Amino acid sequence: MNIFSLKSATAIRTAVQWCFMLWIVGIGIRFGAFINSVERGAHAPLVSRPPGVEGFLPIGALTSLKYWLVSGEIHPVHPAALVIFLTILLMSLLAKKSFCSWLCPVGTLSEVVYKLGRKVLGRNFRIWLWLDLLLRGIKYLLLLLFLVFILIGMSGEKVLRFLDTPYWAVSDVKMLHFFTRMSGTTMVVLATLTILSLFYKMFWCRYLCPYGALLGLVSIISPFKIRRDASGCTGCRRCSATCPSRLEVHSCTEISSPECTGCLTCVANCPERKVLAMQPVFWKRPLPVWVFPSVVVGIFMAGIGAGMVSGHWQSSLSYADYQRLIPLERTLSH
Ligand code: SF4
Ligand code: SF4
Repeated sequence: MNIFSLKSATAIRTAVQWCFMLWIVGIGIRFGAFINSVERGAHAPLVSRPPGVEGFLPIGALTSLKYWLVSGEIHPVHPAALVIFLTILLMSLLAKKSFCSWLCPVGTLSEVVYKLGRKVLGRNFRIWLWLDLLLRGIKYLLLLLFLVFILIGMSGEKVLRFLDTPYWAVSDVKMLHFFTRMSGTTMVVLATLTILSLFYKMFWCRYLCPYGALLGLVSIISPFKIRRDASGCTGCRRCSATCPSRLEVHSCTEISSPECTGCLTCVANCPERKVLAMQPVFWKRPLPVWVFPSVVVGIFMAGIGAGMVSGHWQSSLSYADYQRLIPLERTLSH
């Protein structure tokens, strides 16, 4: 790959990440304005509620998935949560854990923080390998707890009872207030994670995010993988040195690890032409640099579009429902 296309790979990813971040911020502001209308006692909302806000409810989405699997129906209260969840699973199935490095706002912010840390501290640090392995297990353990508790532990009836509760109805409002009315404990936890992320690349994503753990496991069978042509490789190890997931790219011919986020940093840093590439298993010739980003963004847009067209995007809750439920929000528990 030549220098021009290497820079393009990085530039395209940065552009996609920040466009998505802007979209998320827009959703947050719009949802805040919607809730503000309710809280002010307005007879009609200033703006309509953006269903995309349900992307912040992955645990509820997992419960919704269980309901869909046992009943064959999509629960109507927060259908976009399930649509977004399934879309991101599909992205991982086809295009590695690309959600993490191309779209996830937490991933984008984590990158900003570790790059800032590198500037301020002169470098990022690496945790001892044995401890790194141990810590990486935490996110899989958290994932296992969620999967066992929701997919195995909850019966279809229990799942329906939960999805019909006022608690699930206002879970989006609770999520908004998590950010806008942050408790002291939350602030301390976020500050600690931010400081750790200054020192260690992608601390949250690497060790603690159960969502990323799930996407990583699904991504193992993705046809797209980083492939290395050993015949042209000089063994300079720049790929491994720059990989945010600390993968030993220089010694593999194919990266199947669940830790690979498809960020293309290794590709962008390989000085040799056509040695490293993100390619599907069935495609032998090098692909243009825009193909993988197009697949990632295309799957996301197609998934959301399918949800909208099939009528599984807008919530069944009305403005009047929010007016009735929001005053109770603080007292609601499932
Ligand atoms: S192997 Fe390459 S694409 Fe995968 S995480 Fe590492 S740098 Fe990113
Ligand atoms: S950066 Fe490229 S040439 Fe260097 S070790 Fe990695 S694949 Fe080989």
